[in-house]
Amino acid sequence: MARCPICGEALKWEEIIEQMLTLEDFENLLEDRDEFLKALDEFVFRCPHCGEEFWGRALDRREAPKVFELLNEFKGGIDYKNGKIRLKLTNLLALDVMLEEWDRKVGRGI
Ligand SMILES: [Zn+2]
Repeated sequence: MARCPICGEALKWEEIIEQMLTLEDFENLLEDRDEFLKALDEFVFRCPHCGEEFWGRALDRREAPKVFELLNEFKGGIDYKNGKIRLKLTNLLALDVMLEEWDRKVGRGI
């Protein structure tokens, strides 16, 4: 789960990525995973809870590539005109983790 590195509050990925929509080339970033992750690393986010700023590289490194995949899978979930992410990225990630667990269980034949 993404957390603010300053105050420790849980952050919603959709709100975090929304801040990145101010980048003019955000749409192009979605075409290249490495470019996207690099831009995320170097982006200065503002925590909606404590108002402090932090670098994207302080966020969960395992979840960021999944966020990239989800954004690509559901491109219609990004409202560029209004600068909104309509996808519930945080919920989708939780579901993704659940399905992985499920796969592991089924894989073990339980
Ligand atoms: Zn904070």
